[in-house]
Amino acid sequence: MSVLENYISNKWVASKSQSSIGVINPANQEELAQVPYGSGTAVDIDVAVQAGVKAYNEWKDVPVMQRVQPLYKLKRLLEENLDDIAETITLESGKTLAESKGELQRAIENVETACGAPMLMQSEFSENIARGVDEFMIRQPLGVTACIAPFNFPSMITFWFLPYAIACGNSMIVKPSEKVPLTMIKIFKLIDQIGLPEGLVNMVHGGKESVDALLEHPDVKAISFVGSTGVARYIYSKGTQYGKRVQAQGGAKNPVIVLPDADVEMASKIISDSVYGCAGQRCLAASTIVTVGDQNNEIKDALYESSKAKITGFGLDEKVEMGPVITKDSKDRINYLIQKGVDEGANILLDGRDAKISGFENGNFIAPTILENVNLNGEVIETEIFGPVMSLLHMNTIDDAIAFVNNGKYGNSACLFTNNGANARKFRNQAMAGNIGINIGVAAPMAQFPFSGWKDSFFGDLHGQGRHAIEFFTQTKVVIERWPKEWSRKF
Ligand code: NAD
Repeated sequence: MSVLENYISNKWVASKSQSSIGVINPANQEELAQVPYGSGTAVDIDVAVQAGVKAYNEWKDVPVMQRVQPLYKLKRLLEENLDDIAETITLESGKTLAESKGELQRAIENVETACGAPMLMQSEFSENIARGVDEFMIRQPLGVTACIAPFNFPSMITFWFLPYAIACGNSMIVKPSEKVPLTMIKIFKLIDQIGLPEGLVNMVHGGKESVDALLEHPDVKAISFVGSTGVARYIYSKGTQYGKRVQAQGGAKNPVIVLPDADVEMASKIISDSVYGCAGQRCLAASTIVTVGDQNNEIKDALYESSKAKITGFGLDEKVEMGPVITKDSKDRINYLIQKGVDEGANILLDGRDAKISGFENGNFIAPTILENVNLNGEVIETEIFGPVMSLLHMNTIDDAIAFVNNGKYGNSACLFTNNGANARKFRNQAMAGNIGINIGVAAPMAQFPFSGWKDSFFGDLHGQGRHAIEFFTQTKVVIERWPKEWSRKF
């Protein structure tokens, strides 16, 4: 099978790497392509960075109104090719076609928001801070920037950064996940048509070796990373040690509290959609559900029914609601954690471990699984499972439940289901998480808001999307000017 090419200086070029690994369809283990990996990919990074430096030196002086014009073209091309790209997302990541289209829509929304850069980059001006003296702030780009993406959103996550980076005047190198590189290749084939200068956006494949090359390269000025917490921490610490600006989003374990006054039917449907969407492989997926008070059995029964009803299978099959998990290793790890939960004392209410999908016997399928009364001192309560597993807990008061939320090491999202405004207000004020949902299952911010995240879910200061992205991809310069009236000349 041929090895995928990099995109550098607006050309498709072979990697200098001598080794590659397979890109595998998680529904049936079919090898879709070989992607460059390991030794040699660092050389590719160096070539891409040099191209990025050259492009940046011209691009930074292009007026911002002109810099956003290619993004309008990209939006149109993404919309025209949405079905085709979505199919690729499903084939390499396993998610359903509807989920693939949904994430592409989110990518497009970020392109639209970045088109607002002419306004978003505008900044403050104060006249006469002293007599005849004015002060103002300008935003200037950083240089070559890099985006390192995870597998679970093959299109969307790169767009939390890419359109903003270039609208602000930077160049960028995209390093897609080696598990799902085909989607970004499709997207770069569109980027190739929008008239960007040579070397402004480049795509280089690989894994740790290419990431380390980006972290160590003196001409890479900023790193935007999304992935697991261990790697995010490493990226932040190494990147900042090398003097770079870094934003690193990590893993999650998102709790949901259901109060006794919640609408049971609505809550159970929304929560199970959140737990099982993308087979539980969303960084905002609901994971631990805490029921409070005396409606416990009712909500538990409703969650059981809505979980059991989910149809697991091949993502291109229209009636399927949940696809496979990404790799065999991932399936084994999730199965291990389910068993660990049981060994630690949980009751398994619904067991999806031996899901068999006719025609896809080799797929990495796990059907919806529910663990009840997970041990509060065990491994499973703290560990990000990243699979279709719901952990159920019961607590007596909202305060106990909020304390549970705040004791967790992650802080990506926390959600509450209730009909009571005062309790909702208390929760949004006290819950220690960057994204809060009230009667919402996936608290995913729209493109105009930062994709927040606290504690071990985020390392850095400025998040992706919206104004935060504009601030991340620019550095401020404050100018103080003295032009006394008496210096003026009459002509
Ligand atoms: P991952 O950390 O394994 O990989 C992410 C990227 O880092 C990939 O491009 C990979 O090639 C690279 N990488 C992997 N190991 C590395 C290493 N040792 N050194 C340098 N680079 C390395 O993550 P994943 O499995 O692809 O994605 C799933 C994780 O991402 C989950 O933990 C999920 O919660 C998290 N995630 C978080 C958010 C968020 O917004 N907080 C969003 C999506 C996914």
